[in-house]
Amino acid sequence: MGTPMGLGHDDTTAQRLRLLQREFTQPVRSGPGDGRSSRPTHAPAPVNLGVVDRIRAAVYEVEHHTRTAAPEAGPFTGPVERVYDWARDHTAHLEAQQQKAREAIIYRQGLEHALAMGDTLVIRRLPCPQCGCVGMYWRAPIRRALCVNHYCTDDNGVSNMWELKRLAQDYIARKESVARRAT
Ligand SMILES: [Zn+2]
Repeated sequence: MGTPMGLGHDDTTAQRLRLLQREFTQPVRSGPGDGRSSRPTHAPAPVNLGVVDRIRAAVYEVEHHTRTAAPEAGPFTGPVERVYDWARDHTAHLEAQQQKAREAIIYRQGLEHALAMGDTLVIRRLPCPQCGCVGMYWRAPIRRALCVNHYCTDDNGVSNMWELKRLAQDYIARKESVARRAT
């Protein structure tokens, strides 16, 4: 494997994307019953377009990032949940720093997919980048994780808040330093 040390990755993000696509972009069933409602049959069932757009944007981001770093990768054509393996395959020869950047994007998207499915536990399980406390709250309207430690504040006394991007970079950096210490 061309994976740099410490970046042995799981495919959680791909699994979440697959789940998101399967469970959250299916046509919404209209009303109770088994589909034999009195609705006219020509009316197409609504699909959750927000999620469809989000999936498309996520795949595009990974594809764009990959092709910027490795232009020879060419366009991505596979099923959406394969995009992460595809990105790793085409960037495995790059420097560790670039691979870390890729993994941070993948991890961040994993958080985004989980949050899109209503799973905020992914945030609560992460340590605050500043104080290390676990149990941060996800504030959906501002898309930031809020530290619950009363002493963990900025200069104005406001609780520290983190974007997913920062949490993902922090997670990848921590994962690597743990692996480095183990060797
Ligand atoms: Zn904190």
